[in-house]
Amino acid sequence: MAESEIVICPACATANRVPLERLRETPLCGKCGKPLFSGKPVAIDTGAFDRLMRLGTLPVVVDFWAEWCGPCRMMAPQFEAAAAVLEPAVRMAKVDIEAEQALAARYAIQSIPTIALFKGGRELGRQSGLMDRAALVRWAQSILA
Ligand code: ZN
Repeated sequence: MAESEIVICPACATANRVPLERLRETPLCGKCGKPLFSGKPVAIDTGAFDRLMRLGTLPVVVDFWAEWCGPCRMMAPQFEAAAAVLEPAVRMAKVDIEAEQALAARYAIQSIPTIALFKGGRELGRQSGLMDRAALVRWAQSILA
């Protein structure tokens, strides 16, 4: 098992090596000093997504969503609540498929909301449709178990 994780700073995108025993102690970015985890999902664009996949070592749960999608807006607070439970073991991120159409096309996102779990750049699972906090947490934990 790894003794540290590479955590990408949500604020400045610096890759930080964090020892496992410090992961739950609100680690700060070595460059900008901001918290590496806020208990909230991080909005990412394609560049940030690729960086998370290429350099980060944590599993990443991505919520593919769009502003015009009612169920997506309904799921947003549930996804945020799930982040409070799943972080820092998992990075929770949101991709606006209107702004990042090429990324949505790369992963053939057909309907939203769709959530997908990635680790080391590989997609390990995906699920479409509205889910509540408990279902989101169960889903992620079942894939990572
Ligand atoms: Zn930073």
